[in-house]
Amino acid sequence: MNRALQIALPFDAPAPASVPIAPATAALAPTSTTIAPLYFIRHRRARRYLLRVEPDGRLRVTIPRGGSKREAQAFAERQAAWIASQRDRLTAPAFSLEERRLLRARAEAELPGRIRDLAAEHQVSGLTQVSIRSQRTRWGSCGRNGHITLNWRLVLMPPDVRDYVLIHELMHLRRMDHSPAFWRHVASACPSFAASRAWLRAHGKTLR
Ligand SMILES: [Zn+2]
Repeated sequence: MNRALQIALPFDAPAPASVPIAPATAALAPTSTTIAPLYFIRHRRARRYLLRVEPDGRLRVTIPRGGSKREAQAFAERQAAWIASQRDRLTAPAFSLEERRLLRARAEAELPGRIRDLAAEHQVSGLTQVSIRSQRTRWGSCGRNGHITLNWRLVLMPPDVRDYVLIHELMHLRRMDHSPAFWRHVASACPSFAASRAWLRAHGKTLR
């Protein structure tokens, strides 16, 4: 298949290359107080210093009214172990090899039938082949030849979100782009698609 003709549904915008995710081993080094990469925001209504590890691994430090960057930094450094454990959860694989094998088998058993049902329900023609893959960066893709590939991780999603991804790929058989016309096809077949996209943005990266 000509990969240039593929249209993919990426997990999310990739993190900038200059923002490395802390290595998982950071949690094993109690003397390490490395808390970078981090950034500070000021929040007038915050009552205390707040920490949050973003999906891309950056630490967001919220400075309350009357607080200082220096105190915020010191507070964050005292929480280095917690920060490292949060980053560890981002980078560590959530499933063992055996679990992955079983989930993938479940995906092979469930997803091709489901997408064919949805194609029939929404009268989408042109689907020629469905393959299950273990893509690291996309939930699915659709080729001009009608070959749709799906990520096995779709079986981990709520059914509404999974169906949104399947419908998204099916609608590329009508429009091979992300134009307003494409999104109108998606919206008419999947009225709750915006909520599903929000779910993917919020939780997609946890499906590893
Ligand atoms: Zn797409």
